[in-house]
Amino acid sequence: MNILVINCGSSSLKFQLIDMTTEAVQAKGLCERIGIDGSRIVYTPAGGEKMTIESPMPTHTEAIKLVLDCLTNAEYGVIKSLKEINAVGHRVVHGGEKFASSTIITDEVIKVIEECNELAPLHNPANLIGINVCRELMPGVPMVGVFDTAFHQTMPKKAYLYGLPIKAYTDYKIRRYGFHGTSHSFVSKRVAEFLGKPVEDLKTIVCHLGNGASICAVDGGKSVDTSMGFTPLAGLVMGTRSGDIDPAILEYYANKEGLTLSEVTTVLNKKSGMEGLTGGKSDFRDLEEGYEAGDQACIDAIEVFCYNVARFVGAYAASLNGVDVIAFTAGIGENSGFVRGKICEYLGYLGITIDAEQNSKRGEDIIISTPDSKVTVCVIPTNEELMIARDTKALVEAQ
Ligand code: AMP
Repeated sequence: MNILVINCGSSSLKFQLIDMTTEAVQAKGLCERIGIDGSRIVYTPAGGEKMTIESPMPTHTEAIKLVLDCLTNAEYGVIKSLKEINAVGHRVVHGGEKFASSTIITDEVIKVIEECNELAPLHNPANLIGINVCRELMPGVPMVGVFDTAFHQTMPKKAYLYGLPIKAYTDYKIRRYGFHGTSHSFVSKRVAEFLGKPVEDLKTIVCHLGNGASICAVDGGKSVDTSMGFTPLAGLVMGTRSGDIDPAILEYYANKEGLTLSEVTTVLNKKSGMEGLTGGKSDFRDLEEGYEAGDQACIDAIEVFCYNVARFVGAYAASLNGVDVIAFTAGIGENSGFVRGKICEYLGYLGITIDAEQNSKRGEDIIISTPDSKVTVCVIPTNEELMIARDTKALVEAQ
């Protein structure tokens, strides 16, 4: 069974074609600058050269047509015809409270996703465009929606309710939803498999540390708390996002800078976090270089980041009433032994000791704690596309 995984953003579209008998990626790529001048597709067939094709993509329809043309191209394609695509899995950012798991897309499901648009105005409409264009170009091919929020729908009320007038929740759906659910779900399952233990028996804290970063407390395979909230702006200090701040800062900062509330929200999303603290550096490779060179802003930013991660780990060890495993994933979590090491320096009270040699490795499933560490600390590369493909396969086969 071949599954096409689509992650459709407002001006970009990522895709992978996965052969589910082996779970091998047959081809992958990215359409950039959709609806903007200079649009192009970067395409890599398995075992082949990465290629960039410049082509006008005024809308997502042209982008998806181009993806399908690449996949079926006589020279560099990986399938002979579209008939070899058995199903399509779509990443959908927000499923609100309506979707606690992935689902086969029907007209009814599309309506419900549309109802969630106001909760994720930057993401859901683009995800829906991807779904609608694929349905148009591949009629009859089953489609599945996989939601970033679904994994966190198991959170108890005490973890998702904010201390606001209750109508904020009942009338306006304001609550903690959490994001990165596909990654937290994949990593919490994979870590159990890797350690050879039933996921039901493990209390796991997953640290998804990328440009967007979130932490999730997973009890027996179920999310019980997570650091992102109503939007992905909450929780940890991130690449360009502030994470949690005192809400009274919004009005105060708006007055000081002469900004509207909406402009302050843009500052919190795009000009804060590591970028804001250093005046322009959000990539951890640059930040680490600055740290080594003694750049005080980089030192401060990295200290803030690591301290915040450690604070959330402490909070979630309390939520879970203990912790068996801590798993690091995503760009920083998978690649930066330096950041992992600094975070774990705070965790000695949990009986954690780190093996420096193991911690210097990257890009593979590894245990970085010593054998006598009271908590097992691992690095688990995330694979959201594979998770989407697995859910799609399971739902299509069960139809
Ligand atoms: P993601 O959003 O998961 O793609 O992660 C992006 C983040 O991972 C960026 O801040 C990158 O700087 C960081 N990253 C990627 N590779 C490395 C590396 N080798 N060392 C430190 N940070 C890295």
